[in-house]
Amino acid sequence: MAAAVELAARGVSVTVFESAKQLGGRARGVVHNDTQLDNGQHLLLGCYRETLRLIEMVGGNVEQDFLRLPLQLDLHGHFTLHAPRLPAPLHLLVALASAEGLSWAERLKAARFMLGLRLSGFRLKQDCTVAELLAQRGQDDDLAFKFWEPLTIAALNTPIDQASAQVLLNVLRDALDRRRADSDMLLPRLDFTALFPQRAARFVTEHGGAVHLSCGVERITPIEGGFELETPLGVQRFSQVVCAAPPVVAARLLRPLPELAAAVAQIEALQHQPIYTVYLQYPAETRLPSHPQGVRRCVPGGSAATLPQPMLGLHQRISQWLFDKGMIAGQHGLIASVISAEGKHQGWSHTELAARVTAELHEEFGFPSQPLWHQVIAEKRATFCCAPNLARPDQRTALPGLFLAGDYTAGDYPATLEGAVMSGVRCASLCLPERK
Ligand SMILES: Cc1cc2nc3c(=O)[nH]c(=O)nc-3n(C[C@H](O)[C@H](O)[C@H](O)COP(=O)(O)OP(=O)(O)OC[C@H]3O[C@@H](n4cnc5c(N)ncnc54)[C@H](O)[C@@H]3O)c2cc1C
Repeated sequence: MAAAVELAARGVSVTVFESAKQLGGRARGVVHNDTQLDNGQHLLLGCYRETLRLIEMVGGNVEQDFLRLPLQLDLHGHFTLHAPRLPAPLHLLVALASAEGLSWAERLKAARFMLGLRLSGFRLKQDCTVAELLAQRGQDDDLAFKFWEPLTIAALNTPIDQASAQVLLNVLRDALDRRRADSDMLLPRLDFTALFPQRAARFVTEHGGAVHLSCGVERITPIEGGFELETPLGVQRFSQVVCAAPPVVAARLLRPLPELAAAVAQIEALQHQPIYTVYLQYPAETRLPSHPQGVRRCVPGGSAATLPQPMLGLHQRISQWLFDKGMIAGQHGLIASVISAEGKHQGWSHTELAARVTAELHEEFGFPSQPLWHQVIAEKRATFCCAPNLARPDQRTALPGLFLAGDYTAGDYPATLEGAVMSGVRCASLCLPERK
């Protein structure tokens, strides 16, 4: 949709084929029990410039569509880092220096490490795993468990002993080293289909294009002057094609094209990592009074069922991050628990996983021992596994006029919305000079 709106805005007649009944792909709205959910709780960063620009271009309003929070990493009762409203990178150094849950020596090591990264322009001579980099730079286990590991898993959806240190540094550079607002965390108040793709579809049709749902492309065939696409609407001809399907489908569509064998080999070599989201709906009127240390216990007459803040991490628990949808989007009593990357939870049934997450919320905050309902959404191929020195296919392919868009294509970023959007924007700019 990023490629489509960029091209539509420049007067190109665009046709979008989407195989699903709705737009959004891996960032889409889902309805359960009459409640609007997403296929997974998403978080954007202030440095996601292209995504935020396009949301506004198609009629969104970033300040209204998101709850904006200054950078904060809170592992309930174990670690707290809050960035003050100071210019970058001072805000990070003050945040590290005042972080709770680390010794002075650990804070100093983390701050020295960050300063060293700045001095090297956030570039490594040789990519390695995050775990290897942390060991090389004297970041001991406690610091890794409380700070670097949650940060890496949240940013790259890859365990630290497999994750690319260079890609993590790319994200740190963009989020922490430029404007202070780049490190802000933006939590969407709308579901993801409504936030961008639905608005983008309206924008495309208003600019003379077309968007077809439940209309997957089955085959791409090069012809004289363009391509034929086999679709449920019949065979259609186009002068240029942006293939924006997820990696597994892109590989299937491109495999019959001998010119693209190298790109297909790169796509097939990608490994994937899951993300599980457990939604728990409690009665909106459940009362949880404040505990002196911010922990809430459930007794009648207290404050409404909320977490101490809209987003909160748990240390060494199944739930990695909890999101209070009441505070974020007015969906009172709804909690989203996010579990990123591979782990033992993949072997459990959804009922068992929901029961364990429920028990954690009960133990940590005094939430009721049973929610009204739960819904587990397991995205088994949520993102590619962001390993060191990963060869990712370029947006430009060996066939002129055929481009690849998606989070898995070449770029600085891990599999993220911004990575996907930047890739789509690049495809649009590659299409334009080739227009006949
Ligand atoms: C649970 C979860 C949580 C995440 N959290 C975050 C987060 O907090 N922050 C962040 O930045 N990123 C997050 N991500 C990653 C982010 O969602 C993805 O990187 C991004 O959505 C990928 O976009 P894409 O356009 O590359 O691919 P997709 O979203 O996969 O889009 C591909 C589209 O192609 C369609 N399609 C498939 N086959 C065909 C066909 N044959 N013909 C036509 N259409 C087809 C699909 O239906 C889909 O709509 C998360 C992902 C998941 C799954």
